[in-house]
Amino acid sequence: MSRRLSDTRVRPGEQAGRVPIDELVIVPFEGFPAQIAQALAEELAARGISTRVDAPVPLPDAAYTPTRGQYRGEPLLALVSGHGARHVLGITHRDLFARDLNFIFGIASPGGACVVSTARLVIGADDELFRARLLKEAVHELGHTLGLEHCTDPGCVMYFSNRLADTDRKGDAYCERCVARLHAKQRR
Ligand SMILES: [Zn+2]
Ligand SMILES: [Zn+2]
Repeated sequence: MSRRLSDTRVRPGEQAGRVPIDELVIVPFEGFPAQIAQALAEELAARGISTRVDAPVPLPDAAYTPTRGQYRGEPLLALVSGHGARHVLGITHRDLFARDLNFIFGIASPGGACVVSTARLVIGADDELFRARLLKEAVHELGHTLGLEHCTDPGCVMYFSNRLADTDRKGDAYCERCVARLHAKQRR
């Protein structure tokens, strides 16, 4: 018997699919549009996460790699990790890469902070699509901070996005299996 796992996806707003974070601080890196950070904060607040946008912080110069025109993700993650709040999401419009990956949509440390880049989320997107992509990538990276790993369900927000098409296909909520994993972690 085959069952389509995407049929079991929990819809946004449903209690089971909510992101189990009470308070979140969004830290924009310099040059990031304030109204986009604010719009993301409102979307996350609608999911029960009390979210505020903090003052912008400078991009770490040492993270810039001129030969690639990109920033290394790890130093940005380290910078927001030192913010002090329990849950922190850094956000930048600059393109990021990490290790052997030629670009990343975001980076996170389990139990810690995360960073999302919008550099590629804008490609071919109108305002609505861009915001949908940003929400998915934010919920995805927050999932990593809560200890979730990548999910094999292409409809789950924790599915690994290798390309924008992956992001556009997946939903913006954790699937039932990921919700169960989250609950198991919280009980620990
Ligand atoms: Zn991931
Ligand atoms: Zn999942």
